Amino acid sequence: MSKSVAVEKALTRFHEQARLRAAYRHATMILQYDADTTMPVAGASILGDTMGVLAEKTYEALVNDDTRETLAVLLAAKDEVPRHIYREAEELQRKINKISVVPAKEYGDYERAVTHATHVWRQAKLAADFNMFAPYLQAVVDYAARFAKYYDSSRPVYDVLLEDYEQGMTMAKLDDFFGVVRQELTPLIARIAKAPQPDTAFLNCSYPLPQQEQLAHYLMNILCLPRDRCAIGTTEHPFTAGANNHDVRITTHYYEQDMLSGMFTVIHEGGHALYMLHMADELNGTLLAKGASSGIHESQSRFFENFIGRSEPFLRFILPKLQELFPTQLKGVTAEQFYHAANRSQPSLIRIHADELTYPLHILIRYELEKQLFAGEIAVADLPQKWNELYQTYLGITPPDDGQGVLQDVHWSNSYFGYFPTYALGSAYAAQFLAAMEHDIDVSGTVAVGDLHPVIDWLKDRLFCFGGVKLPEELLIDITGKPFAPHCYTDYLKHKYSALYGLD
Ligand SMILES: [Zn+2]
Repeated sequence: MSKSVAVEKALTRFHEQARLRAAYRHATMILQYDADTTMPVAGASILGDTMGVLAEKTYEALVNDDTRETLAVLLAAKDEVPRHIYREAEELQRKINKISVVPAKEYGDYERAVTHATHVWRQAKLAADFNMFAPYLQAVVDYAARFAKYYDSSRPVYDVLLEDYEQGMTMAKLDDFFGVVRQELTPLIARIAKAPQPDTAFLNCSYPLPQQEQLAHYLMNILCLPRDRCAIGTTEHPFTAGANNHDVRITTHYYEQDMLSGMFTVIHEGGHALYMLHMADELNGTLLAKGASSGIHESQSRFFENFIGRSEPFLRFILPKLQELFPTQLKGVTAEQFYHAANRSQPSLIRIHADELTYPLHILIRYELEKQLFAGEIAVADLPQKWNELYQTYLGITPPDDGQGVLQDVHWSNSYFGYFPTYALGSAYAAQFLAAMEHDIDVSGTVAVGDLHPVIDWLKDRLFCFGGVKLPEELLIDITGKPFAPHCYTDYLKHKYSALYGLD
């Protein structure tokens, strides 16, 4: 491949510009991680200024004539530009287009509206008072709708919003997916709600935190997370942050009365971390180092949390270790009892505490509400009543107040409209990846002996290494040989939970 002089020059410029962008992103990420974990609260006010300066610099490093000209040359020379650079150029151009269509003043007003809404949401949730939050939510909804129209007025607003988190995703595809979820899972959930439940008393006693911490480190070893490249911290709402494939930080939260919560959080965040740790070196410092999409990222965390961590072979394998750490709490508990208890399913009000089977219904409800809201079919004021109706329809329960209902999640106040579906998509993608993996390796067999190397190596070559180079649909087709297939997910859940509850 012989490159023209113009392309050679553009590539050199691109690398220089990328270094600057990467440095700002790196600094921002580390400061954000610090703020979320160890920073004393009083540091927030001054950190706010620093973050403001970094945000301005990041903007300037992205939106300028030099970058625009460089991108124009690279994007016109697809055959002469390495694939990952071409893909990053595409992503940068998309980002610039998105930012440039919003007048700077309006963007500042929007950021203030989000900050306000998030602040009021916290109080409204505590007071279980939706009316307090409604005008602030309305403002954020209006901005989101207006920005989506600026960006692309030819498509429905909600389709434009979905693209922010899952490129290529549309309402048409999600209607299909959630249609399958609704049809296949709601009858099973209703049957299980009436079935006898396993004994979970041994999970509800006190599990000392020092031993839980030891368990977290043991799990990191099982997940093959190298300690020189992956750190662990604690936080209120766990997340994973990655600067590059040499510096990934997972976080967890230990609850004395709920040891399994901490255990599955480490495994979940460990899945996100594996994805970041095994991205190709050439992606370090690029926009593509974040992964293919929110849904694909979530597919990896949920793959390890649910499809591996909550599987019978894994729980059978881990039980002796748990009994060594918690001898009195788990005395006499059999592998079968443990598997059943860890997979107990029951309709519940709070999404983040939902079990693997009922979880996608919580997402379906949010999807239906967001879709109707941005289509103008319902108003912000209708949300509490509609929320409660849908919980009754799909899960057979009604929240006693809005704090445990429509106000439970932070996402809407943050303007993350279109994000929720990626949580359910993640599990569904994971089911499809697992089916493909099982053709090549004996997954149950290797998990049963606590050896996850073959599983991780399989994912490394086919998925992790690509970062954001391939788009979600491309990954699905390349890895599984077919486009997104929602039945793979519902079949997996039906099979697992019918067996757990002795239903045919
Ligand atoms: Zn996650």
